[in-house]
Amino acid sequence: CNGGISLADLTPMMQQYHDLKNKYQDAMLFFRLGDFYEMFGSDAKRAAKLLDIALTSRNKGGGEKIPMAGVPHHSAASYIEKLIKQGIKVAICEQLEDPAEASGIVERDVIRVITPGTVIENEILAENENNYLAAAFNYGDKFGFSYTDISTGEFYLTEFSQSQAAKLSDEINRISPRELLLEEKIAQQKELKQLQEHYNFTLNIVESKKYQELKELLLEHFNVNSLEGFGCAEMKAAVYAAGQILLYLSETQKRTINQITALKSYFLEDYMVLDSASRRNLELTATIRDNSRNGSLLAVLDQTVTSMGGRKIKKWINQPLINQTEIAARHDAVAEIKNNYIVMEKLRTNLADIYDLERIMSKITYQSANARDLVALKNSLAKLPIVEDLITSFSTELLAKLSAKFDSLTDIQQLLEISIKEEPPTTITEGGIIKDNYAAELDQLRDLVGSGKDWIAALQKEEREKTGINTLKVGFNKVFGYYLEVTNSHLEKVPEHYERKQTLSNSERYIIPELKAKEAEVLGAEEKINDLEYKLFLEIREEIAAEVERINRTADLIAILDVLLAFAYLAGENNYQRPDINSGSEIIIENGRHPVVEKMFSEQFVPNDCYLNQSDQRFILITGPNMSGKSTYMRQVALIVLMAQIGCFVPADKAVIGLTDRIFTRVGASDDLTTGQSTFMVEMNEVANIVNNSTAQSLVILDEVGRGTSTYDGVSIAWAVSEYLNNPERIGARTLFATHYHELTRLEDEYTGIKNYNVLVKEDSDGVHFLHRIGKGRANDSYGIEVARLAGLPEEIIISAQKVLARLENNNKLPVRNLEKHVQAEKHQQLPLFKTEESPILKELAKKDILAMTPMDAMNFLYKMKKDL
Ligand code: ADP
Repeated sequence: CNGGISLADLTPMMQQYHDLKNKYQDAMLFFRLGDFYEMFGSDAKRAAKLLDIALTSRNKGGGEKIPMAGVPHHSAASYIEKLIKQGIKVAICEQLEDPAEASGIVERDVIRVITPGTVIENEILAENENNYLAAAFNYGDKFGFSYTDISTGEFYLTEFSQSQAAKLSDEINRISPRELLLEEKIAQQKELKQLQEHYNFTLNIVESKKYQELKELLLEHFNVNSLEGFGCAEMKAAVYAAGQILLYLSETQKRTINQITALKSYFLEDYMVLDSASRRNLELTATIRDNSRNGSLLAVLDQTVTSMGGRKIKKWINQPLINQTEIAARHDAVAEIKNNYIVMEKLRTNLADIYDLERIMSKITYQSANARDLVALKNSLAKLPIVEDLITSFSTELLAKLSAKFDSLTDIQQLLEISIKEEPPTTITEGGIIKDNYAAELDQLRDLVGSGKDWIAALQKEEREKTGINTLKVGFNKVFGYYLEVTNSHLEKVPEHYERKQTLSNSERYIIPELKAKEAEVLGAEEKINDLEYKLFLEIREEIAAEVERINRTADLIAILDVLLAFAYLAGENNYQRPDINSGSEIIIENGRHPVVEKMFSEQFVPNDCYLNQSDQRFILITGPNMSGKSTYMRQVALIVLMAQIGCFVPADKAVIGLTDRIFTRVGASDDLTTGQSTFMVEMNEVANIVNNSTAQSLVILDEVGRGTSTYDGVSIAWAVSEYLNNPERIGARTLFATHYHELTRLEDEYTGIKNYNVLVKEDSDGVHFLHRIGKGRANDSYGIEVARLAGLPEEIIISAQKVLARLENNNKLPVRNLEKHVQAEKHQQLPLFKTEESPILKELAKKDILAMTPMDAMNFLYKMKKDL
């Protein structure tokens, strides 16, 4: 906006600003003015608030002022970081010429728009996290999905049918992009909106383009005639999404993204299916409660020592395998490493000294790396031959392949070794970077400077002898260059031809023609040296940038090696055993532990077995009081299966895992008191997803399904869902189901495949103790009352409760043969758990809406009940 004045009245610089701002309206424009980036107008007001910086103003012409706020150029990164984290794009506008040399207004332009998904700055990026930019588009009858991390150069694409809308949000959830490009229609999807509530990412609705145009962009970028080589020639929707990413990158980054050297197509069917809810419930990479990494499976498993390995292990956890051979190959590798403890230790020590090669390479290809980055690269590369040497002894397939493909990059290391000084400055234009003996021309110039300085030093001696002034000194300053200095006591001895330049309080400074001639030579050479060093540095950086593909390939191998080393290390450290993966349908776990919970309890953690098969024990129903360990047990089984299928050893004495294609969990926020319809709706959505998508090879974990509604509905739904999941003609999935509905334990009598288990409880004179051990049979449902006793309720109430319970149990012999009858029967009874006609107290209880009562109401009611008894 131009306020009240016309564009023509603006100062030329403000006109320039407005022209640029018009082009980047959705970004905050950082306008370079000398040593500052300035923001104007509404940008300035917003920045002042968000960045906590002073809001001032500047004359914009026509006698009017415009708000202004600025940040120093050298500390801009931290301010940019704050904005990016809040999802704000920052357009960086630089001065394209030296203001001192500009005639008229300095030329300026936006050189890059930094967006949440296009960060390469180390200061802003988390070390072992990827920073993804993703895209989701409809094309034809498919969804195309693609994502990239320009700080590491990865670029993936896939597609799936439009009937699988939920898959899209699952994929988005899996990779957790910082920024998502998409079209309006997709942005409206409810799954996506739900996802956005869970974590923050920037949505960018972008224009549709012609498929051909986007494909051309990809062909051009990779310099190929067809996408055949990337395996995606026929994946048009995927290509469409990938093309949109590339287009967005070229618009924001304004350069070719050379660190992206390949496209990787993948298929969802190649990996275990984990929907968003299950990922969250199993706390794979973040906890449910506060979304922190601490307390997640990742936090326990991530024993990697490089940033590359840190990112890789997160990918593996999020994408378990379903190919038996690939899984076994990882287990073989882990076993081999584990058996070579010394090699393992040496490898981990050496890997720990390797910097983030992928991110250094991104800086190098972005031409933003300085000489210190190259030194970091050099020192990292120096470790590679040692690593290569250590891995040649391995013989299992995966490691042997890794070793065969391993490129130690010695030529690149060598180039850096001979060219870049050990401790170069951070600036790259002022010399001090290139080693001697690297370039003959540079050596000559340095000799020239050296001999020039020697000559000048010699001149001091010569002139002292000639003049007899033994305190005569040669000095140098920026204003006069080299001079001869004579103290006042010797002034009468100064020869005629000395030309006086400066008078100080007790000395005079002179110049002589020979000295000035030499000075010109030395200073000229020094300037040439700086220019030449800069040029050589750029050449070396370019030469290394050209090797990005090779270097990133090695970086990837290091990442894989690092993860396998971490798995082997964990196996030793946490006493994990190698699982046996087969194509059968059993799950046998002996003395299994929960990998995260056991860390908090160490010896006190009680291990548990699990046995599931396809014939007589497919569906395990677990009853037991609250806090007895049901959730922990079920999650532990799921996590052991998942760990096995990412190639890790598992926290159990023995584990045999029939390959699992999906893990579904519906682990309720069961301790949240029902918050009404919406909770129940979410729960039913998740259950629908499970019954619609699980197979006989799936593992299903259900915790308290049906609790979000009234008891009557809840039991019926839980019953019907159990029946359906267990039925081999429907699904026959291997299932663990924890419930409070004691009625469900009758399922065991009705259906083969369903078995009752419970959490064992020890009773003694003090009451009950949870043993956290899972055993056969149904729980005695009076333990709820025991828990109430433990919690300190008066004995009187406990006794009364026991009486009520006994009565309920006697009256509650539901003749359930199947659900039909069950529902029929209950329709007549209204409230199945209470024979209300028999007791006035119970009749009254039945009328009460417990959720609408205050604790005081409840107390009074209990008191009245007791009195009437
Ligand atoms: P539930 O699902 O039955 O309410 P949880 O699985 O949430 O119970 O477990 C409750 C608490 O019991 C856990 O937080 C943990 O402290 C403890 N616990 C659970 N399982 C075990 C175990 N196997 N060994 C030791 N402590 C356990």
